[in-house]
Amino acid sequence: MKVRFLGTAAFEGIPAMFCGCELCKKAFELGGKEIRTRTSVMLDDDLKIDFPPDTFTHMVRERLDLEAIRTLLFTHSHSDHLYAEDLVARLPGYTRTADSPLPVYGNELVVTMIKAKLDAEGGAQGRYSLNRVRPYSRIELHDGFAVPLPVVHDPMETCLLYYIEKNGKAMLYGHDSGTFPDETWDWLKDKKLDLAILECTMGHSPYRKSHMNIEAVLETNARLRDDGILKDGGSVVVTHFSHNAQLLHTDFQAIFEPHGIQVAYDGMQLEIE
Ligand SMILES: [Zn+2]
Ligand SMILES: [Zn+2]
Ligand SMILES: [Zn+2]
Repeated sequence: MKVRFLGTAAFEGIPAMFCGCELCKKAFELGGKEIRTRTSVMLDDDLKIDFPPDTFTHMVRERLDLEAIRTLLFTHSHSDHLYAEDLVARLPGYTRTADSPLPVYGNELVVTMIKAKLDAEGGAQGRYSLNRVRPYSRIELHDGFAVPLPVVHDPMETCLLYYIEKNGKAMLYGHDSGTFPDETWDWLKDKKLDLAILECTMGHSPYRKSHMNIEAVLETNARLRDDGILKDGGSVVVTHFSHNAQLLHTDFQAIFEPHGIQVAYDGMQLEIE
């Protein structure tokens, strides 16, 4: 399974808009891995998780063929994960080539928000099939399946993690989240992951309720390994960083690599074999 990290920032991006803090200034100066766009991941070039406002940038930078996407999964409705305005670009009159319905999966709020944008443009017109998913429901993929799992991130909606089995490999897309609830750990207990992707929005802050801080990432990493949920030789990757953490890519590497955790950057690509 090929995993491409298209964006690796939290909502504000790095450097953040309207911010002249030390970290944002350094990010501008250093460029490269310090420049982070809003988070999304592509699996095998045909399954995309979330559709942030930087999707156009991702397409151009990575030369993505968005028409190769066969499944679009949404974790939740926050604007760094769902920019429904740009989904309109797949409707007749905007694209000249798209002609089949793209299956989209998300919670009730995500589906409602997308539907409202499409309805304002005459509806889905055969270009999307919108599917509301609930925790633990099974989503069929052409080469595997996905299962949404509940997580505490925003009390106003059912935010979802995704367990995905694709081409014989198993992965957990673990954010946005605070520490995982017991029921999610319980569902995962018999699984054997090749890859887990976690978020570290809060950096050294003690806050870990609706987003993970460094401590929560390290604890989750340890539990995935200790409980045997992560396969021997499996990978843990951390992403979704905020400038508020005031940490550079190399700072995150120094913190996480001793624990066997890889630090994602925009454009990072993994081959899970
Ligand atoms: Zn987010
Ligand atoms: Zn800043
Ligand atoms: Zn969020």
